[in-house]
Amino acid sequence: MKFNLFDVPVEPIGGKKFIYGQIMDWIVDKKVFDFDLMTNLSKKVRQELHDNYIVSKLKLVTKQIDKDDGTIKFLFSLSDNITVESVMIPSKDHYTACVSTQAGCAVGCRFCATGQGGVGRNLHFGEIIMQFLTMEKEISQRISHVVFMGMGEPFHNYENSKLAVRFLQESKLNISARRITVSSVGFPDKIKQWADEGVRSELAISLHSAIEFKRRELIPYAKLCSIPELMDAINYHFLKTKRLPTFEYVMLQGVNDGVDDLNALVRLVRNIDCKINLIAMNGSTNGFVSPDRDAIKKFCKQLNENRVKATLRRSAGANIFAACGQLKAQSKL
Ligand code: SF4
Repeated sequence: MKFNLFDVPVEPIGGKKFIYGQIMDWIVDKKVFDFDLMTNLSKKVRQELHDNYIVSKLKLVTKQIDKDDGTIKFLFSLSDNITVESVMIPSKDHYTACVSTQAGCAVGCRFCATGQGGVGRNLHFGEIIMQFLTMEKEISQRISHVVFMGMGEPFHNYENSKLAVRFLQESKLNISARRITVSSVGFPDKIKQWADEGVRSELAISLHSAIEFKRRELIPYAKLCSIPELMDAINYHFLKTKRLPTFEYVMLQGVNDGVDDLNALVRLVRNIDCKINLIAMNGSTNGFVSPDRDAIKKFCKQLNENRVKATLRRSAGANIFAACGQLKAQSKL
């Protein structure tokens, strides 16, 4: 049996502790993932690596570039031939990696392409990190921001998501907590555990409706908590970490964009310090479509007029089906 190299070896490789650091320099700094190319390691050490370890290498299957905004969607194949998608989003002054934590997703949000594919498997944290490193290698640029908003529910793969966040911060990648956002539909026990364990990241909660029955229709996961339970956990997280929550709200025409929806949202968040990200639904899944741009702007303005901080999030990669909720649907090996 071979061990994953990202799990720090129990016994020092080559009998010396510093060799692990040298290997990580190759992987993290130089983006060299092949033991034979790690030329400052002795032949004996390289053989020991071959015999006992794997690096969670990802095979790039396809790469699509959105000609309008430069977003790149990557389809990667894992060692067991399962595929996942990751996205690199360019901004004026930085790059953001959107990584997947699972192949598939059990939550099954009705407007989400990933959710329609059902449950896959959890990714090892090395596979999450390798999405980031392989994208950096592909674009030959430093990526400074990471969002856990690709395929999967990060809190359904809690341990690996936690290890990936810590690796991004504590390895030479040195990405600060405010530049790492973990997105979840919200599981109170996991949100509280995240805070209790001192995992430092921004938290984005996929709300999509402040009306209980509508939220349950959009997120038909049997174990979905109630909105009051969710708010209680978010408050707990805030009191422990002092990090303000963000709520993600995918705009769906005729579903969650009416006056009642607006009023319920205002009532829910008016008295808490938080931000609402309004996201235009891209394309169409299960018949869900976005309201037009003007209607979303109006919804946003009305939230602001009610003293709710809301912004309209730029939807990157619409031309290549890389936008929110579109991963995996259009690509096949
Ligand atoms: Fe899963 Fe997120 Fe898609 Fe919902 S939106 S089904 S949580 S990947």
